[in-house]
Amino acid sequence: MDNKMPLIALMGNPNSGKTAIFNLLTGMHQKVSNYPGITVEQRRGNAQLSENCAVQIMDMPGTYSLTPESLDEKIVAQQTLKWLNGIDRPKAIISVVDAGNLSRNLYLTSQVMEFGIPVIIALNMMDRVKRKNQDIDAEKLQKILGVHSVIPMSAREKWGIDELQSALLNVINKANIEVSSHIQMEIPEEIERIITPISNFLNAKNNHDNYITNIQTLRIITRKSGIELYSESENLNAAEIKSLTILRDKVAHEIDELGLNHRILEATLRFEMLDNALMGNSIINQNEIKNQSRSERIDKILTHKWMGPLIFITLLYGIFQSIFTWATIPMQYIDSGVGYLGNYCVQLFSQGILRDLLVEGIISGVGAILIFLPQILILMFFMTILEDTGYMARVAFMMDKLMNKIGLHGKSVLPLMSGYACAIPGIMATRTIDSWKERLITIMVLPLMSCSARLPVYTLMIGAFIPNKPIFGFLNLQGLTMVFMYFLGTVTAMIIAAIISQFIEEKGKSSFVMEMPPYRMPLAISLFRQVYTRGKLFVINAGKIIMAISIVLWFLASFPKPESNGISFSIQNSYAGKIGHAIEPVIAPLGFDWKIGVGLITSFAAREVMVSTLATLYNVEDEGDDFVGITEALKNEVDPLTGMPRYTPLVALSIMVFYVYAAQCMATFAIVKNETNSWKWPLIMIAYMTGLAYFGSLLVYQGGQMLGLV
Ligand code: GDP
Ligand code: MG
Repeated sequence: MDNKMPLIALMGNPNSGKTAIFNLLTGMHQKVSNYPGITVEQRRGNAQLSENCAVQIMDMPGTYSLTPESLDEKIVAQQTLKWLNGIDRPKAIISVVDAGNLSRNLYLTSQVMEFGIPVIIALNMMDRVKRKNQDIDAEKLQKILGVHSVIPMSAREKWGIDELQSALLNVINKANIEVSSHIQMEIPEEIERIITPISNFLNAKNNHDNYITNIQTLRIITRKSGIELYSESENLNAAEIKSLTILRDKVAHEIDELGLNHRILEATLRFEMLDNALMGNSIINQNEIKNQSRSERIDKILTHKWMGPLIFITLLYGIFQSIFTWATIPMQYIDSGVGYLGNYCVQLFSQGILRDLLVEGIISGVGAILIFLPQILILMFFMTILEDTGYMARVAFMMDKLMNKIGLHGKSVLPLMSGYACAIPGIMATRTIDSWKERLITIMVLPLMSCSARLPVYTLMIGAFIPNKPIFGFLNLQGLTMVFMYFLGTVTAMIIAAIISQFIEEKGKSSFVMEMPPYRMPLAISLFRQVYTRGKLFVINAGKIIMAISIVLWFLASFPKPESNGISFSIQNSYAGKIGHAIEPVIAPLGFDWKIGVGLITSFAAREVMVSTLATLYNVEDEGDDFVGITEALKNEVDPLTGMPRYTPLVALSIMVFYVYAAQCMATFAIVKNETNSWKWPLIMIAYMTGLAYFGSLLVYQGGQMLGLV
């Protein structure tokens, strides 16, 4: 794209309609990429304002303020710090404001007005304001704030966009545009005195005007992360960072001593400024007696004391069920399609290592990637609807108290629940959680929810070794064992979440109470775009890792090849088999032998591979869902030392507990790497889950033996 075109930045709160306006301005001329090194989308596009004037528009991530709480917000804060230093400064900023939530949205606008860049307010969602029989005095608002212009519009009903374009044209064509904000925060003298050490520090670094320096000072005081942002943008050295940190902690303490709260210092001063400017100015005009708004009427039911949770659980059940049922059909197609492709290649090429690599390594790797797509797409579809309609904010509100106790967010509930179907779409769905800490904890415990890939293992073990006998007359031991496995995973997830939350540094919660966004009909086009991008991101980014791991696993299971052609190859002699033997002493205390060991290794591809590996090791056909041959083989296996059956109910229980906890899924590993953008978190996850699995099984097997169980 042409970089000489004037750059225009689109900024605004999440869900204020930035992307809708961006799409209207740029049409199809847009390019989506990720910000360097992180999984946040960067969207740029060209807009033709007149015959001979085109601009480049940048859709920035949604943010409530320039004090970042989430990854998206951090990107915005970083970018704007660059602007302050004259790097990549846009020619103008379109501040998108949800007209239905004026005061909350103007918070960010007032921050944006402080860069000395012309600001055009796109007063979006006016259709909804009008429907409530209200009107907003745009001219008055423009005068009070001192922005370039305020353009009432509706991206949904597609009006006001021409006016927005001509306002842009006006900014671009004027040579010396005067930028003057009419509002400024009043920083009380006492506070100004306290913060002087920091503002002196900043002044020594660069000479912004006093007001800008004070604002940056406030932001450094508000959050520790403010120091990080500032030092990145100013290239501070370690010594400077250290002395700034010491100053900051001291000043923050002094502010708190005053009886103020340093974490909401800027918010307090800024809201005071906005209140003073807007109050008594009748900017919002009510034309008729105010009716109860539609959103308020819907909320009466959806957030009702007991109907609310009931409706939520019903919805959850529906979504959860549809991931299970709707996804199975396309998953079967993908499965048989991949199988067909493999068979086709087997016929096409002559026998050899390359063919094996292609069929058993690469094609089955592709299968392992594609098989998750139906579940991801279905869950993302529902999540986007819940998010865009505004319902998710209500769910967060209802569940928040409960989830907060264990360090999670109200929005963690749905991703966690979908973990019962599959962890992958659940982990992708955590993107709706704004706080990084809460999102990370949700990701870290999500694989403990018993996913559907564990079912074949549970079914095999329970069917073979847990007696089918009634308990208390109406329950059944087999069913109860199954329920127990789900229960064990869920409860452990809750406990681990509570533990992890003690260790991760709080990067700050929202400092002011969030208003509920009004209910809206989601736009089909933005819905499908989101679902499509998520699917694409998964296939491309996570796909690479999954592919690499499946080739390694293929190699371990099919090499070394026997020297002479007379001996037929079997997994026993492979590297996987050797590793199985090698780890036998380690897993013997859990009641596992080397064959289970091989299964543990191969099931890193996916948990259900355990069953087919055992079938291969026992030379029985893996005949689908009833496991007859393999069940018999397991029951008949005898311990060569004692002559007793090798597998007992206790061993089966130990295996199942291992599968509840163990991190045996390369796709989960890949997606966690992808979503946290680091190797650290997936590695920590594997470490803690393997630890849990080992000690869980150890406890079951050794404890069981001590109690005389078999
Ligand atoms: P972003 O998060 O700021 O990029 O917001 P989006 O452009 O994704 O819009 C969020 C939601 O608001 C979508 O469901 C849009 O369809 C809806 N929306 C956007 N503009 C308007 C508008 O002017 N009026 C109404 N009623 N809805 C809108
Ligand atoms: Mg957007």
